[in-house]
Amino acid sequence: MRARGIETVRRILCVFPRYTSSFGTFEYAYPLTDGVQAFMPPQGLLLIAAYLPENWPVRFIDENIRPAAREDFEWAEAVFVSGMHIQRQQMNDICRRAHAFDLPVAIGGPSVSACPDYYPSFDYLHVGELGDATDDLLARLARDPSRPAQQVVLKTNDRVAMTDFPIPAYELAEVKRYFLGSIQYSSGCPYQCEFCDIPGLYGRNPRLKSPQQIIAELDRLLECGVTGSVYFVDDNFIGNRKAALDLLPHLIEWQKKTGYVMRLACEATLNIAKRPEILEKMREAYFITIFCGIETPDPDALKAMQKDHNMMVPILEGVRTINSYGMEVVSGIIMGLDTDKPETGDALLAFVEQSNIPLLTINLLQALPQTPLWDRLAKENRLIEDDSRDSNVDFLLPYDQVVESWKKCMKVAFEPERLYARYQHQVDFTYANRLKVPVTPEQKSWANIKRGLTMLRNIFWKIGVLGDYRRVFWKFALQRLRHGDIEDLIAVALVAHHLIKYARLASVGHHNASNYSIRLREAAVPAE
Ligand code: SF4
Repeated sequence: MRARGIETVRRILCVFPRYTSSFGTFEYAYPLTDGVQAFMPPQGLLLIAAYLPENWPVRFIDENIRPAAREDFEWAEAVFVSGMHIQRQQMNDICRRAHAFDLPVAIGGPSVSACPDYYPSFDYLHVGELGDATDDLLARLARDPSRPAQQVVLKTNDRVAMTDFPIPAYELAEVKRYFLGSIQYSSGCPYQCEFCDIPGLYGRNPRLKSPQQIIAELDRLLECGVTGSVYFVDDNFIGNRKAALDLLPHLIEWQKKTGYVMRLACEATLNIAKRPEILEKMREAYFITIFCGIETPDPDALKAMQKDHNMMVPILEGVRTINSYGMEVVSGIIMGLDTDKPETGDALLAFVEQSNIPLLTINLLQALPQTPLWDRLAKENRLIEDDSRDSNVDFLLPYDQVVESWKKCMKVAFEPERLYARYQHQVDFTYANRLKVPVTPEQKSWANIKRGLTMLRNIFWKIGVLGDYRRVFWKFALQRLRHGDIEDLIAVALVAHHLIKYARLASVGHHNASNYSIRLREAAVPAE
């Protein structure tokens, strides 16, 4: 569905801001690829681009790939921006540049929806999801494309049903420049973990697209040239278990029909381990990774943060169960919790070893607006506004002790020997359980072979020859080469390289200790 009933034509420039360097965007892997420059195509902005009236020309620019240029601003009649807290500084910068051309600028997306007051310079604030606020914004721009005298705040009260969402305008994005493809099936989560803003922003009753929409989106992604890994950005893929079960047979069919061209990944709660009927179908649909917010191995801490559902099966058993269906677990971890003790860091490192999870995003606790945590800490007078800190939480343990413990965990967990040992475990006990898929014509194509050779050349040269952990790398790589497993060799080498480099810098204080931190740092991913 598109916006309708608007006659006047406006030219819209959609600009996605650069990311501040973050653990989860893999930018240190990009130089090893064949030209990847950005993480995932942004769903929100591409959705809005697809929703615009059919006759409105639209340009999409991801500043992680190239900055919006003078001619883009000169072409446009209005600029749309969207992003997360971590992109706040960059979003305000886009606004400033657009205003130099006297263009009206509208901002939407999760950051402004949670914190409208972060964006005082924008002309239009679009708070909430696609809905009546979007129609209002388009109608206002159609009537008058000049900048309003004062900021206009438009809040969605009536959301467009996800079953009416158009396919995001993937064709506007240079999909081959992205590390991962992205797709969204549902929005919202039934749980209420204390630190999480998802239920507050998107609701506790997950909203859904139809399986047919997802299949049409996958077809479109494929037409646009996306192969390789595609990430379901849903907050919790099993937020509505019946819906997941409804979708999976369609995914299985689609994968069979297209020859398993896409490796799928998603986010889900760890209690998915209790659902063999879902896991089996996910395996058949060729899901190979699940991000689980494990947060902490400490049961008391899980209880305190209202994440008891993580304890429905013992955590290590849950991880092993998921692995037995061929899916690697990626884990979110939080440090700085009220329940943390001086020995929490060591306990966490022991958990990393035991679980053999290679990729863990270890964050310091950050209180986000619109969360129960924020409300509690505000009452306790424990929210700290100080840009020099890595968290806005007044921890119960001394701040320096918590940060040092985080740095030590980053340093030790991602030492090359330890990390590659965990990947070797995944090869033996997880990847071995994946569905055996046929080699597709796409994989045999010259374009794909050339792509693989380019990445291998980069990996062998930059890690195997020049890298300071080359011995560890070759021990892993030679085995993979002997098994003819080039795909996993490339995938592991790319991700491991990012983790090792990022963690080394983080452990000496070069990166934020929280991916959710709103501490303003220079964007470290240059678009130029
Ligand atoms: S399960 Fe995940 S998405 Fe749902 S409230 Fe908890 S942290 Fe947020």
